[in-house]
This record gives sequence, structure tokens and C-alpha cells, in this order.
Amino acid sequence: MRVGVLGGGQLGRMLALAAYPLGMQVRVFDPAPDACAGQVAEHLCGSFDDEAALARFADGLDVVTTEWENVPADAARYLAAKLPFWPPVEALETAQDRLVEKTLFRDAGISTAPFVPVATKEALSLAIKQVGLPSVLKTRRLGYDGKGQFVLQTSEDEEPAWQALGSVPLILEGFVPFQRELSIIAARGTDGETRFYPLVENHHRDGILRLTLAPAPDLSSGLQQEAEAIATRVLDRLGYVGVLAIELFQQDGHLLANEMASRVHNSGHWTIEGAQTSQFENHMRAVAGLPLGPTDVNGNVAMVNLIGSTPPAADVLRIPYAHLHLYGKEPRTGRKVGHVTIVAPDAESRRDSVDQVLRLIGETL
Ligand code: AMP
Repeated sequence: MRVGVLGGGQLGRMLALAAYPLGMQVRVFDPAPDACAGQVAEHLCGSFDDEAALARFADGLDVVTTEWENVPADAARYLAAKLPFWPPVEALETAQDRLVEKTLFRDAGISTAPFVPVATKEALSLAIKQVGLPSVLKTRRLGYDGKGQFVLQTSEDEEPAWQALGSVPLILEGFVPFQRELSIIAARGTDGETRFYPLVENHHRDGILRLTLAPAPDLSSGLQQEAEAIATRVLDRLGYVGVLAIELFQQDGHLLANEMASRVHNSGHWTIEGAQTSQFENHMRAVAGLPLGPTDVNGNVAMVNLIGSTPPAADVLRIPYAHLHLYGKEPRTGRKVGHVTIVAPDAESRRDSVDQVLRLIGETL
């Protein structure tokens, strides 16, 4: 089985590392000559608008998937006309536009923050009246890790928010006073077989994921069922195959959907050592038409992102229950360059190990 992956970052790298034991060969497509998946898989370097490069990429592949959410829809459609392409192009397009995404949630009966599209300055004033304050103005497309967002506390923020973001299509969302941020990762095979990982709790700073706890502390079966029902509605609507992640806010004991990723997700990196089958392996199994693996958790698990720089490997590996993943990327401010997974026998030793990792990297959550 030869699997093509659009995008060659750390997600593509971890997909390739999961695929090889299954006897698969992986070819990634990425415009960056130093794309880090290229260290562990065949790398075709080309531009997403170059059909000849896409055709060379497709040559000899059995199936194509993606690890980068902003793959241009035209490139995806071009490949989908030649080869099985999972997740469906519609899922990719939905996740690329916050308005389309939130509309899909709403049409599927999934709760979200109130939202209104904003295209003009006048529309922003109206939207603020509809949604209320505080609220969050976001770019519809190409926002990630908290970029392209402006929180409006008072009406005085309207002008600076418009100045900061007004050059592109926007969405205004009500600010959710959530208790915590959670995410659910689901995997669905070509025959519809579906598995869910347990809800995890995510901690961000400056809009970037820093820490994931798996399973989420104080997880009730009711909350897990609610999350699985949300994911199922999205999977069904999109005829989905592969791994899907949905980021959620917990508010007053219920869940609101914030956004989805039609790919493996940072809040699922813990599954490599922390679950019976990793999200990467289950994604590759799904797109290759193979049975999925169990998603049970192997203990009290946590994942800490390494952002901007990496500590000495020995200092990480000295910490009890710690596993180190380095992505082979040039360190740069704000860049995800690796992660540490803790698989501890109990909650107390998990907390001890996580505290040691956070101290080592100078993270103040
Ligand atoms: P996003 O890019 O939508 O995932 O937003 C990045 C982070 O901003 C989220 O993880 C939340 O911490 C925060 N955030 C986004 N949207 C909202 C909202 N409507 N209400 C409150 N916080 C939000």
C-alpha cells in the first residue's frame, strides 16, 4: 500500500512513522525543501498549484490523505479525481472556513457560541449588537494557534479590531466563559467502523496548545457520550473516513463545539505511547481500508508541547514515565518542535512528571 500525504510537517512525519510497521510506504507533498517528514518518508517538493507536480506525486499511489488543513481545495479536488482521497474534500473545505464549519455544526444540531459573518465595518457594528460583548472577532480562513483573532471587551474595541483584521472575511463569535477546553478524537474506517478516544483536557497559552491531560480529569460517562454524539453527527454528515478532531468548550456541564480538524491533531499526540493504537496508526488504517485498533488509554497520560526550543534530551528522559519526540525542525519562536508524553500509573505521578517537564522548559501554565 502506497499512501500519499499532502503536507510534510510533524503530523506527516508521525503518520509515516506509524505507517511503516504496517508495511505501507509513504510519500509526502510539501513546498518546503526542509519539510521534516522528508527525513523519514519520500518527499516530493512542489507547489500546490502545480498540476504537473501533483501528477508526479499521485503516480503509483493507492490513496491520498492530508496532514495540513490549508491544502488548497483545487489541489485536493485534482487528486480526488484520480485516486481515493480521504478524508473527503468537503471535510477539508469545511474545516478551512470558520463560517462554513460553524454552520455545519449548527445544521447538525450541535451547540456553538452564537456567530455572525462580518464582511464590512457596518456589519461588524450590527454583529456586535446581535452577538453581544465580550465577543471574539476571527478571520474565517487561515487562522491557527490564536492568530487572526481579536477579543472585544467593550465597544471601544470595535475600531482597533476592524483595523487589525478587517482586510479579509471575518466571523464574530460570542465569548464563551468556559470552565475548560476539551477535545475528542474519532476515527472512522471505509466501512463506517468508528472508534473514539476519551475526551482530553487542553491547556493553552497565547492561543497555543501547551498541555493535554488524557483522559480529561473528572470525566463523566455523560460528557463522553455527549462528545461522541457530536463527533458522530459530523462524521455522518461528511461521509468521513480517517481521524477527525473536534475542539470543545465545557460550559455548565455541557459541550459547545469550537472547531474541527479533518486530520490527526496535536491534542492526540499522547496516543503514540498512551493509547492501545495511536491516532496516527488509526488514521493510516482508516484511509487504507484496514480494521481500526482499540483506543483504550494505557494509564494516566499527559502531553507537553515543546515550543520554540528543545531542552537537552537527557534532561527529559531522566523524568519518570517521560517519552521524547523531536520533530527535526529548526527551532524558532512559537514553533512546535517536539513534545513529551508522560504515561504514569496514577494521577499523582503524572502530576509530578508533568511539573518536572514544565519546570525544565520554563513553562508557566
Ligand atoms: P481557535 O483558533 O478558535 O481554536 O481559538 C484559539 C483559542 O482562543 C481557543 O482555544 C480558546 O482558548 C480561545 N477562544 C476561541 N474562541 C473563543 C470563544 N468564542 N470564546 C472564548 N474563548 C475562545
